[in-house]
Amino acid sequence: MRVLLVDVLGQGEEGRKATIDVIGAGPRAVAGVLERCGVDVDLATYDRISKVKLRRYDALFVSAMTVDFPAARRVLSIWKRIVGRGIAVVGGPLACNPYDALARAGFDLCVIGEAEQTLEELIERNFDAEDVKGVGYVEREDVVVNPLRPIMPRESYDQYIPSVEVVRSYPLFFASRVYVEVVRGCSNYYRTTLPLPDGRQCTGCNKCRTGELEERYYCPVEIPPGCGFCSVPSTFGPPRSRSVKKIVEEVEGLIEEGCKRIVLSGSDILEYGRDLLVEPEPLTDPRSPEPNYEALEELFSAVKSIPQVEKGEVFVGIENVKACLLTEEAAKLLGKYFAGCPVHIGCETGDEEHARAIGRPSMPREVVEAVRRLKRHGLQPYVYFIHGLPGQNKRTARQTVKIMREVARAGAEKITIYRFQSLPMSAFEDMPSGPPAARDPLSMEIVREGERINLSLKEKLMGSTVKAVVAAKYPKIPNSLVAYPIYHGPVIVVRGSSDLIGAIVNVRVTGILSSRAVRGEVLEAVRPSRG
Ligand code: SF4
Repeated sequence: MRVLLVDVLGQGEEGRKATIDVIGAGPRAVAGVLERCGVDVDLATYDRISKVKLRRYDALFVSAMTVDFPAARRVLSIWKRIVGRGIAVVGGPLACNPYDALARAGFDLCVIGEAEQTLEELIERNFDAEDVKGVGYVEREDVVVNPLRPIMPRESYDQYIPSVEVVRSYPLFFASRVYVEVVRGCSNYYRTTLPLPDGRQCTGCNKCRTGELEERYYCPVEIPPGCGFCSVPSTFGPPRSRSVKKIVEEVEGLIEEGCKRIVLSGSDILEYGRDLLVEPEPLTDPRSPEPNYEALEELFSAVKSIPQVEKGEVFVGIENVKACLLTEEAAKLLGKYFAGCPVHIGCETGDEEHARAIGRPSMPREVVEAVRRLKRHGLQPYVYFIHGLPGQNKRTARQTVKIMREVARAGAEKITIYRFQSLPMSAFEDMPSGPPAARDPLSMEIVREGERINLSLKEKLMGSTVKAVVAAKYPKIPNSLVAYPIYHGPVIVVRGSSDLIGAIVNVRVTGILSSRAVRGEVLEAVRPSRG
């Protein structure tokens, strides 16, 4: 069997990819399972689909987020028009709503939650989905959803190796941030106390906040775990960490393929190895125990000792932390290995009561303190907020604006504001998504303040020197190139010939082009494009 795996992650509406230089961990994980089952798999990105000889394939797999619905549906319609046979399977967050994935988009099968074991079973049974856990399918025009698959134990999860070869199918893989999953799941089993549309409401039993770890897993009124807007704990369960050996092998494999920017990913890097401290209990407490400093040190030092990383030819960064786990010791450890790297912290709302009602594991004050700590240890704190959340009111919006100013004063280098989007399998699944900020004065207050702060932070970038990887020609300006900062940051447009593509360069920022791009001049090529 020959499978075409199409990555539409983050595509959203056609032609409007949210982040252009990101290669997520999910599609490579799926490709790894298919390779392990002896299936021939090729990967294509959404924008390349028209160039693929579709008739060569027997099955279509699509990896998509909820917002990628239009792009996923378009890929499927091209497939049906040109191939008109073979099974079409969708996975990723879009699949968590089987009605959308099957009845509305038209896929034959959707894989809900952790895909590895489900895919293996499906392949073994030649895609006969009956009795396969974690699958939705269509039978006589009805959507059938099988029971969910229990979360994989750590040892089973660690056996799966994401494909490294398929990374070369991404057009700008050598300049993109390639995500390597090091820990899966989230330990926040607190729950929202806001009343849900179907009448469920927290009774205040406090089991999910003060109970034993096992007890926190179940809520007597079946409110999904985690922050109300998030589906990570209900989809992927509590954290499980991969072994250092497997992670290092994967990073080395990606480097061999030519990748230069790698991100050790997870919903929180500080969860790495915490599960080992409470095993065999599930890690369902977001605050205790503290991070597993030994496990973190072992991982970081092993990855940073890979020769190409040590020599500065390849950059390895991290992404997210929860404020409640960012102790002084944790910040010091991150500073030791990742100085200069951006670290994202979710604040989401600046109002303490609102934060508690949503089910947040950390309070806004802790986020301000975490920003200070990261800054002190040489990292670049980025802070997330969400507008339009259930429970947003005048007080929460004002408090959010206030905390945004405080995190900026404490040293945040960027503020990212999302609009609340109701996600399948989250507690807020049946709540309406937040309106666009233009239609809600309170959301507008939050968005405007974020823009104001970011503009002044971007002005600070002027004249600074940034290390970047040259990715491609910039089509809008002759003799210009696009470069991506090695860790994260706005796209940089520089003058130069295409010989520089693939090179690591030092760039001085000379101007602002748009909210997502700056102009710069190349000072020197630190590493040439080849070798
Ligand atoms: S969300 Fe559920 S488990 Fe948590 S306190 Fe409320 S009723 Fe108890």
